[in-house]
Amino acid sequence: MSNFVFEPTRVASLPVSGSDARFPVARVFCLGRNYHWGDALNAVREVPAYFMKPATSVIDATGELAFPTQTQQFCHEIELVVAIGIDGFEISEAQALNHVWGYAAGLDLTRRDLQMAAKAVGNPWEPAKAFDGSAPITPIVPASRNGHPQQGAIWLSVNGVERQRSDLENQIWSVSEIVSQLSHSVSLRAGDLIMTGTPPGVASLEAGDVINGGISGIGEFEVRIGSRPAD
Ligand code: MN
Repeated sequence: MSNFVFEPTRVASLPVSGSDARFPVARVFCLGRNYHWGDALNAVREVPAYFMKPATSVIDATGELAFPTQTQQFCHEIELVVAIGIDGFEISEAQALNHVWGYAAGLDLTRRDLQMAAKAVGNPWEPAKAFDGSAPITPIVPASRNGHPQQGAIWLSVNGVERQRSDLENQIWSVSEIVSQLSHSVSLRAGDLIMTGTPPGVASLEAGDVINGGISGIGEFEVRIGSRPAD
């Protein structure tokens, strides 16, 4: 018997690739720009901004994804997901990969119109980024089995037409740098996920769209966008 006034919220989790085990999700950190998009924004290699999604936004990247409410511009962003397995604060770059449990491919789904509206007036991004189901992610591939990939194709297509393609080696900030930098801002915990930013080519999704995406050697997925909710 506990003295909680109701049962604690269920733990969000993701499958572990090739196993019955599940990876319990603590928090989700998301980087801003981490690939060159061919515009001036990356002219200076500034420390990337980060935002968060709640663990409750994490879902398996399979089946049908609900079309969120309150948006006319529902966008895909394919990203490498880093899964933290060991707590750490002020982790050095040299030690950073020791804290990484594994990797996955994920979608940082975004209500772009709400993000633009928030940016325009300096409001937080949560309505654009932190909605239910906004982080579909593939099963996590353990680093103990697959190592720490530094390169590999990352791509996304919609209805068979490719929209995003790059390579992990094009990431502006390496996983070691990202983990180290983030751990100087907050104490990282086992279970934290880091979505590491998306290559160029982000665009809107429509009801019924079929998305295929993945990262070579890490994971691939196919999902379908559900019908648009009645407003
Ligand atoms: Mn993103």
